[in-house]
Amino acid sequence: MLNRYVNRLIMRYLYIKSAIIIFIIVSISGCVQSPEAPRLGTAEIISVPIPQHFAGVSVENRPIMYSILGNGSDITFIIGGIHGDEPAGPQLANHLADYLNQNQDILIGRKVVILTAANPDGLAYKTRVNANKVDINRNFPADNRINDPNYGPKGLSEPESHIIYTLIQQYNPARIVSIHQPYACIDYDGPAEALAQQMALYCDLPVEKVGALPGSLGSYAGLTLGIPIITFEMREHDSILNTQLLWQRYGKALLAAIIFPNPVQ
Ligand SMILES: [Zn+2]
Repeated sequence: MLNRYVNRLIMRYLYIKSAIIIFIIVSISGCVQSPEAPRLGTAEIISVPIPQHFAGVSVENRPIMYSILGNGSDITFIIGGIHGDEPAGPQLANHLADYLNQNQDILIGRKVVILTAANPDGLAYKTRVNANKVDINRNFPADNRINDPNYGPKGLSEPESHIIYTLIQQYNPARIVSIHQPYACIDYDGPAEALAQQMALYCDLPVEKVGALPGSLGSYAGLTLGIPIITFEMREHDSILNTQLLWQRYGKALLAAIIFPNPVQ
């Protein structure tokens, strides 16, 4: 009688112990496989960041950075934001870098140097000029440069223009595209008419020859150095567009410049 009672107690103990162990196992496995936990087999897509190269600093010591996409011998130099009150340029140039980074096939045989924000002080203050109140785009040592307080005491007096000058020397681009607002046209200097026409096929901006302005990057690169250069003038209200719309409107024109004279697919 006693033995049967003891056996029953032992059986009940084992039953309760088993139930507790099963409960603990289920609880633990439930935690590990909770819906919030990362699931195996769904690999996260990690975009490789674009290396940024230090080119120098602005008048107010803001770093000026640029990126290099591709390592081919056909080189395009893209510049955004020489004028700080034209923010759509840096926005578009930034997205171009991302696009090329994700579409490396475009870069076969090519290299694209992108200076997204050439005048970071002006961009910070929303001013055309730099922190010395000099128009960077009149500060180049072009043959037509004139001395004027707004153009700087001499050619390349400003660190921002000197950085662009140095990058041109360093990379010797086959073509340059400087992105501006708000004149809604594709202006060109030097041997760049065919390039301008090709870009115009892929956006709704007309080709317009504005003329060589004194000490401008267009005058310096296009006329003094003989490098085809485009002054890509977007519209004023492009500043309020989100990046996707900006890219839809002008992305293909930039790609056309990079792969010139080939057509954009
Ligand atoms: Zn401008």
